[in-house]
Amino acid sequence: MERTFAIIKPDAVERNVTGKVLAMIEEGGFKIVGMKKIRLSKCQAEGFYYVHKERPFFGDLCAFMSRGPVIALVLEKENAIADWRGLMGATNPANAEEGTIRKALGVSIEENTVHGSDSPESASYEIPYFFNQLELV
Ligand code: ADP
Ligand code: MG
Repeated sequence: MERTFAIIKPDAVERNVTGKVLAMIEEGGFKIVGMKKIRLSKCQAEGFYYVHKERPFFGDLCAFMSRGPVIALVLEKENAIADWRGLMGATNPANAEEGTIRKALGVSIEENTVHGSDSPESASYEIPYFFNQLELV
């Protein structure tokens, strides 16, 4: 079993489609082992996305991620990291395949509804950024 970290981003929480995303997660065979609703500060968003700090969209991305509440999730499944990236779809919803969350619900390359760890290394940074051991069941 593998664990990955996911976020339902502010654009989805604002549009009341949290439940649709959670349904796709459960239908995709993932177990939700951690879940909380939180609002990131700008500073907390910068810490989460520090790997992108040199990218031109970093400031906008951190402003977006802190503009309203998000749902932070830890998902468990065999091959969870790659399978969750597959269910999310391409970063730009315009390029995302049919059946993916970003195709169904994404608004733009920035407001693309969901986050997912891209490697075991990033999952090991991102999961404990949001959850302690007692919160994962
Ligand atoms: P992913 O979320 O698919 O792993 P990245 O790690 O490359 O994509 O980027 C992190 C997030 O930054 C994206 O999900 C998206 O919200 C935002 N982003 C990525 N590329 C751009 C871009 N060219 N312009 C604006 N925002 C972007
Ligand atoms: Mg990424």
